[in-house]
Amino acid sequence: MSDTSILTRTEAAERHRLLDVRTVRLDLDLTRGREVFGSTTVIRFACTTPGAATYVDVKPAALHRVLLNGRELDVTALRDGRFPLTDLAADNELTVEADMAYSHTGEGMHRFTDPADGEDYAYTQSFLDDGPRVFASFDQPDLKARYTVSVTAPQQWTVVGNSLGRQTSPGRWEFDPTPAISSYLLAVVAGPLHSVRAEHDGIPLGLHCRRSLAAHLDADADELLEITRQGFDHYHRVFRHRYPFDSYDQCFVPEFNAGAMENPGCVTLRDEYVFRSAVTDTRREERAMVVIHEMAHMWFGDLVTMKWWDDLWLNESFAEYMAYSVTAASTRFTGAWTGFAADRKPWGYDADQRPSTHPVAPETVEDTSQALQNFDGISYAKGAAALRQLVAWLGEETFLAGVNDYFDAHAFGNATLDDLLRSLTTASGRDVHAWADRWLRTSGVDTLRVTDGRIEHTSADGALRPHQLTAGHYRRTADGALELAERVPLDLPGHLLGDLPGDGAVPLDPPADGTELTLLNDTDLSYVKIRLDPASWRTARSSLGAVPEELARAVLWGAARDQVRDGELAPGEYLRLVADHLPGETSVHLVDAVLSFARDFVADCAVPPAERPAALAELARVCRTLLRRTEGEPDRTGLRLVAVRGVIATAADENGAAELRDWLAAGTVPGGPELDPDLRWQLLARLCVLGAAGEPEIAAELAADPSDTSEQGAARCRAALPDQAAKEAAWQALFHGELSNYLAAATAKGLWQPEQAELLDDLTTRYFKELGPAAARRGPALARVLTTAAFPAFAATDRTVRAAEACLADPDLTVATRRGLVDQLDTLRRAARARALTGQ
Ligand SMILES: [Zn+2]
Repeated sequence: MSDTSILTRTEAAERHRLLDVRTVRLDLDLTRGREVFGSTTVIRFACTTPGAATYVDVKPAALHRVLLNGRELDVTALRDGRFPLTDLAADNELTVEADMAYSHTGEGMHRFTDPADGEDYAYTQSFLDDGPRVFASFDQPDLKARYTVSVTAPQQWTVVGNSLGRQTSPGRWEFDPTPAISSYLLAVVAGPLHSVRAEHDGIPLGLHCRRSLAAHLDADADELLEITRQGFDHYHRVFRHRYPFDSYDQCFVPEFNAGAMENPGCVTLRDEYVFRSAVTDTRREERAMVVIHEMAHMWFGDLVTMKWWDDLWLNESFAEYMAYSVTAASTRFTGAWTGFAADRKPWGYDADQRPSTHPVAPETVEDTSQALQNFDGISYAKGAAALRQLVAWLGEETFLAGVNDYFDAHAFGNATLDDLLRSLTTASGRDVHAWADRWLRTSGVDTLRVTDGRIEHTSADGALRPHQLTAGHYRRTADGALELAERVPLDLPGHLLGDLPGDGAVPLDPPADGTELTLLNDTDLSYVKIRLDPASWRTARSSLGAVPEELARAVLWGAARDQVRDGELAPGEYLRLVADHLPGETSVHLVDAVLSFARDFVADCAVPPAERPAALAELARVCRTLLRRTEGEPDRTGLRLVAVRGVIATAADENGAAELRDWLAAGTVPGGPELDPDLRWQLLARLCVLGAAGEPEIAAELAADPSDTSEQGAARCRAALPDQAAKEAAWQALFHGELSNYLAAATAKGLWQPEQAELLDDLTTRYFKELGPAAARRGPALARVLTTAAFPAFAATDRTVRAAEACLADPDLTVATRRGLVDQLDTLRRAARARALTGQ
């Protein structure tokens, strides 16, 4: 959007000094058709310097009227999303009437027509700086206000907001005033919703989704409500403040960009979390964690809000840490930390080793566009891992005492990292500031390497972070398995206590006789890369699957993954590990994560094209072994589902295609599971890639189930067809069309296929020419799609690396495009390096 204003930190501080926002009345009219909605905002605010000037943020389709203290202002004064206000009084009333445009990118007020039944839905995403696309606002986190919202909607619609609301006349909804909240947290969800209502501990609970998903939400409502209750009980046990809002609605909404958004009392979640097809238990665990994560934000983020976006980590790292620890402690998903090790931390490690890395808590974030880029693996995964280290150091009770003190001091207000560190220092009597300087103000991952009985502690930036962790010593049992002989706690001070003498190496007590494998960080308590001594690595290669605890195996798989990405382990060696140890693996977390990496990075990008068929065949054999192992074992449905998906994804020749066609015709995998929509579309997509299915099959599948899932499946299939016309159509839609965010992602997923390299050669070149203008035209959310799913990652050659570098030299790239490209280029270089390793 060309009218997007970018708020800087300096401007925000200036406006904060000047204004005290008291109340906002917001009236929305959702009955003005499918293009625009009406928005009237009345803001009452005080000004510390009467006579001064400021501006209000508003990004309308048409600005109808602006009244300041009864004075009619000229609406043509609007510039780049800012409307100037001059000659302020001590007390002011501002009225802004506008038509706002619905979006299809998940930003502002997103409107969606459900292809299943033609019903329309609308929901807001005000996050960061998209609130002014819905209502006029002094849009920055530290100008909190009480909001009173009313909405006019079609009569058969339900409207959900941040506070309790009711229909006062047909189609007219009025909501109670909220406590003081930040503008980026204001939310409205509307449409012919299906709702499930309940109550817990005096809090009204609601679950909502679009009507076509009603049966699926009903099927899972008990599970969702149980997790919600467990979350509230846990938080009420550990936090002194009770839940600070009057109700708790969780709205599952279509085409949502993030996992979920923590709007007070009105959480929005992507409605893929209303499962329409069979899912693994790990996917249910992920959903539980999202629920618990958003609940943590009700305190951390909503009750106490960061003053400026540089403390974004305060929100996200804390919620993420709580999500894992509360899910593991208080729900049935007791293995949540394995998921953290296998699925989540790699996101942080990868981000932290790229040129775009930044401290968890950056000293300054200059503006909102910069803030959006920090929404990455560092703010979430690394930040949560760092907090886990902090808890290991302080003890949980002390940590919570500090956090409660912080809530007491800043409830319904704003705070900074310094405020939190002060509370934690008071509670613990320790120098938490020094700890934060090492962990939160620096970038990069430490490496711990066992060499000659010592632990070599190094890092790229030379700033050694302190680590609380364990070392596991494993020995061989009589029957050839491995068992834990001893686990020792280690306290590596890093530079926490000042500069270390010498090379930073720490002696490791000699392990007991017979130790064959010494594994640092074997309980995955810390955030660190580990390298084994040569003898232990030999044991890991031969016996990884025999290591008794799944968390320790996750750490070993993580070390292997690292070494491939760092160019220290050839892709073929990694695939051998997979072939040797994955068929016997019992952890769904591990099988899923290892197979994904082996397929997406190793087979698709890091092995030379000539060797790819052999790599796929190897992975297919692993998946088939898993399939055989899980036949008739209903308790392993999770593993079986992963294996089935693996067989589909690795089918490569005529025999493979014939088998998939048989499954599709029979409607089931022999021995189960039956094919549900997700599996059917995945199957068809693979057949399209291989040229073994085409438009007739796609059209038939779409006609049988005309849902949005099917529309996305069809878009992906059509883009995957191995012919020039299909590729060109996908290209035009992605780079020159108006696809919604989800249809764009689906199209992008179909477009690039390693087996179609020749056909795609020209498009790889075009990508770098057309990316910049397309991403600028469609805004940050689509820029993310265009630089992730739509990036030609499989073309890991020097030529693509050079083309990406040349593209980065373009000064006109938007912040989001540049960041996406820098990150992809890093992965591309790593893949190219891994290919070279194979060639040696
Ligand atoms: Zn969050």
